[in-house]
Amino acid sequence: MSAATPLPQERRLVTAIPGPKSQELQSRKLGAVPAGVGTTLPVYVSRAGGGVLEDVDGNSLIDFGSGIAVTNVGNSAAAVVARATEQLAAFTHTCFMVTPYEGYVAVAEQLNELTPGGHDKRTALFNSGAEAVENAVKIARAYTKRTAVVVFDHGYHGRTNLTMGLTAKNMPYKQGFGPFAPEIYRVPVAYPYRWLTGAENCAAEAAAQAIEIITKQIGAENVAAIIIEPIQGEGGFIEPAKGFLPAIVEFAKANGIVFVADEIQTGFCRTGQWFACDDEGIVPDLITTAKGIAGGLPLAAVTGRAEIMDAAHSGGLGGTYGGNPVACAAALGAIETMKSEDLNGKARQIGEVMLGRLRAMQEKFDVIGEVRGRGAMIAVELVKPGGKEPNPEATAAIAKACHAEGLVVLTAGTYGNVLRFLPPLVIPEHLLAEGLDILESAFAGV
Ligand SMILES: *Cc1c(COP(=O)(O)O)cnc(C)c1O
Repeated sequence: MSAATPLPQERRLVTAIPGPKSQELQSRKLGAVPAGVGTTLPVYVSRAGGGVLEDVDGNSLIDFGSGIAVTNVGNSAAAVVARATEQLAAFTHTCFMVTPYEGYVAVAEQLNELTPGGHDKRTALFNSGAEAVENAVKIARAYTKRTAVVVFDHGYHGRTNLTMGLTAKNMPYKQGFGPFAPEIYRVPVAYPYRWLTGAENCAAEAAAQAIEIITKQIGAENVAAIIIEPIQGEGGFIEPAKGFLPAIVEFAKANGIVFVADEIQTGFCRTGQWFACDDEGIVPDLITTAKGIAGGLPLAAVTGRAEIMDAAHSGGLGGTYGGNPVACAAALGAIETMKSEDLNGKARQIGEVMLGRLRAMQEKFDVIGEVRGRGAMIAVELVKPGGKEPNPEATAAIAKACHAEGLVVLTAGTYGNVLRFLPPLVIPEHLLAEGLDILESAFAGV
């Protein structure tokens, strides 16, 4: 099928999921790719766009995952394809550190403008989220001349050695892959649903505990950076209780610590704002971005205060591919799409529809402990009825039932008990509604 054929925006199941061709490819995969590279749903994709993924068997699935919050603008968005195609034909690589090109500078300018805060900023580009986080640590250490890095319970920052160490959850991210980098310290996060003394006490108590650990156990004067996701992604879409983030930012500022917002999952209109920090008016010193930045091409960035970003010596930052010209062209196309299609507005509409439907489901199904999230970053935390004991079994069963019906959903959470929804922001309304119908039937079935 040619790429020019429009992709019907419909769910269509013509075989079992996965179908025979997918199963054949999956058996090839098992013989060619290591077991460590797992797949959530072994349906092999042939085309994707809008709100659907079409597979090699001719099925069309509704996408509530966006390839983990990447295709915010949809797959193969027109402006991304046009700009990347033009760049692909012009040149594919020179290495920005050898002979530079405009696209990199243009992306840096866009990020400097769009990220929170009106101060003078600089942006460096990389290939992956983990690489961006690693570089944020390098920059913060170079600037502060300190070594300690503070991260939070339930945090996720990547799979490289340093970012594994920064990540909270052992299985599957860290198990057997140590030793991890030193000078990483973990402190509590304000997780309202599971705060023992109640959600109303959560922000103040969690901030006080975090600050006490930093001052008493680490020494604030030793801390280079505090790194936090303004909404924790892999940890289960945990929105820190309001007031927690500002308290941590204020503490960082008072103690000369670089505050790093990891917005790799939350950024680029996902939460209904350009960045999730915007919600509480947080202005991070450094912000890491990736995932949604370039419509699916690999690109990541560290953006931050000019004086901090410039602390690393010339040649100290970079990488062969960082800010690849095709990825930069795609990013400019993605950002253009976010603006022209008002994807912040779209994300907020998606959030309203989803939260409305999911809260109604919460009334009916006692495995739903909490519904939370902002914009098109919405989650349901599943519990054993009558309490708050995590229910990873029901979570897995519901995800499986959704997959069988042609709805791609992802799970998350330290306890494996969160269903998370990250639809492309361009998903048509009827597919959003149909996906939620499938989800409701899945809840009714467990
Ligand atoms: C996905 C993610 C990362 C890692 O990004 P990769 O591109 O997979 O290396 C880091 N931080 C957060 C918050 C993420 O969601």
